[in-house]
Amino acid sequence: MFLGCDSVIIGMTSIVVSLIYFIIVAIIYFKKERTKNFDNKMYSLLVIFNIIGLFLELGCYYYVSHRESYLIINEIVNRLFLTYIVVWSFTLIIYEFKVIYENNKKVTNYLNSHKKLFNVVFIAFLLLTLGLVMISDLQYFYDGKFVYSYGDATNVVFIPCMVSFLIGGISIFINKKNINMKKLIPFFVLFLILGLALVIRFVNPGYLYITPMLTLVTFIMFFTIENPDVKMINQLEYAKNTAEKANRAKSDFLSSMSHEIRTPLNAIVGLSECIKNSDDIEEIHEDANDVVMASNNLLEIVNGILDISKIEADKMEIIETNYNPVELFEEITTIAKTRIGEKEIDLICHFAEDIPNTLYGDKGKLKQIITNVLSNAVKYTEEGHIKFNVSCINERDKINLQIIITDTGRGIKPDQIDKIFNKFERAEEDKNSTIEGTGLGLAITKSLVEMMGGKILVHSTYGEGSKFTIFLEQKYSKGEEKTKVVKDERVSYRDKRVLVVDDNKLNIKVASKVLSEFELNIHSADSGFSAIEKIENNEHYDIIFMDIMMPKMSGVETLKKLKQIDNFNTPIVALTADAMEGKSTKYIEVGFNDYLSKPINKEELKRVLDKCLNGNIEIEEEKTPEEDPHIHRVIPITDEDIEMLNKKLAEDLAKQKEQEEREKNNTN
Ligand code: ADP
Repeated sequence: MFLGCDSVIIGMTSIVVSLIYFIIVAIIYFKKERTKNFDNKMYSLLVIFNIIGLFLELGCYYYVSHRESYLIINEIVNRLFLTYIVVWSFTLIIYEFKVIYENNKKVTNYLNSHKKLFNVVFIAFLLLTLGLVMISDLQYFYDGKFVYSYGDATNVVFIPCMVSFLIGGISIFINKKNINMKKLIPFFVLFLILGLALVIRFVNPGYLYITPMLTLVTFIMFFTIENPDVKMINQLEYAKNTAEKANRAKSDFLSSMSHEIRTPLNAIVGLSECIKNSDDIEEIHEDANDVVMASNNLLEIVNGILDISKIEADKMEIIETNYNPVELFEEITTIAKTRIGEKEIDLICHFAEDIPNTLYGDKGKLKQIITNVLSNAVKYTEEGHIKFNVSCINERDKINLQIIITDTGRGIKPDQIDKIFNKFERAEEDKNSTIEGTGLGLAITKSLVEMMGGKILVHSTYGEGSKFTIFLEQKYSKGEEKTKVVKDERVSYRDKRVLVVDDNKLNIKVASKVLSEFELNIHSADSGFSAIEKIENNEHYDIIFMDIMMPKMSGVETLKKLKQIDNFNTPIVALTADAMEGKSTKYIEVGFNDYLSKPINKEELKRVLDKCLNGNIEIEEEKTPEEDPHIHRVIPITDEDIEMLNKKLAEDLAKQKEQEEREKNNTN
């Protein structure tokens, strides 16, 4: 019946061509990293069967035309070829079933629960078909031009094809909504080809090319099967895991934040209640002090979060000024001492004598860096000592500071060392549960140190203590530049009229209280409209503090409207809790004269009042260049520098120890 072509040569050529291109497809397919999913397994089988089928069909052409010499081989090859068609068709039926019903839970559940029965029926049907193929009559035709086989055995192979047609057609019709139609393209092509083949068969059985047809179907399937790339899956898996990890870290952070924020809040709410109900002035004072402390704590937490978000958004700015380093270190020491409180810890400080009197750098960030590390030393040490040493190498145009903070605290396990600089991560969570912290301090510290071009290193022995070393480069004071020194005089603003614009009454109250310390004449407006009205009614103010987030008319809009009023030239200062973005520049860019963040810092407020009310009383003072005897060489900070600094520090420490011992002996 089939195995036909118009000539042996054309038939064999078509198979050889199919074989070549299909082997290429197979190589590409098998070389590709694949997941072991159902689609891939089925497709692999079809590919393998297809290649075998192509060889068998090639054999059929040859042996049918030479069957006199190869009677048995011809019989075997032809029946094997028919077997291939049956097996290929059965594999396709399974695949077809899967594609049609994969999204239909009812059917898949039913099939899964009756899996054994279906397997038995399926295998029985397959064996029956194969049995029929083997025992049925098979005839061969070859007339020098056409070659094909025919008989009952060839008709049997149409059974699975018909079954596939039937099941497929009905199932697609019933289940059309749930089917991924793209996956059915190869089936439609197959049905089309088989339909055509049936018609042609009656015209001339010699015009059938079975394997090239099936090859075409298998080839099309290559583009329609779900064949996820392993690499892509791995990448997606990695991205998923990273996202999950970040999500977990965020949830942990939120829960720890909520705890951290609640702790000072609890003190603030509870103690404020006590203040409200108490008549004892001393007790009220004490409670108010604690409220201030808890509020500062809370502010520190919020600032930590802001710092991290600023660092991540690349919005942290380096603000360099002249400063006295030793004074700064002493200030930090005082803070650390109060934090030590009742703990039996000796705080031993040593600041090298060759540290210049004045340096130029970001004093605020330097303070934050050292305070973070020193506070941790206090937090994680119960007894013993904490050493705070600063030494330096003075070069021609820069100073390399080496800050070492050593403690005899609980230390850090080696496997936790890398973790401690990650944000929101805390080593030994169980032990940490009683120690306040957010896991942000060292992440901020490291980012700040790196922003300033320095390095932070940690050595720790678990159970014995830790040593944090910070290397930072600072410049000599800009002697030629005029240094701004703010006069520390208390200036009176008694006659100055201030307008506070805020929609929140409590905020107006707080601002008024803080401003009242400066003996100002305070007025308020609860909206931008009200502020504009006051100005339009010719009320005069010397300064306006403007909230930004107000309903209906924001602070920025109010500012713009006020600026349009004729002869209006009152300084307007943005007063806002929005401390997230590049604050000062952002507000000054839109037209504010200055910026103050909530809660109001008194020193900042004084600076703003001085600037806006008294004109700028920042006095430009001439400073002479720092004459430093320790200038000896110019080199960038390197590992050798670090080694040298370590050596120098060791010498300094030895000298210090010697001196301490000498002093001890003298007193004895
Ligand atoms: P926090 O102290 O708020 O938890 P940090 O980022 O400052 O966050 O520190 C991260 C972790 O590093 C801490 O939770 C602590 O486990 C560990 N750590 C930091 N400094 C020390 C230290 N001096 N001794 C022991 N452990 C420390």
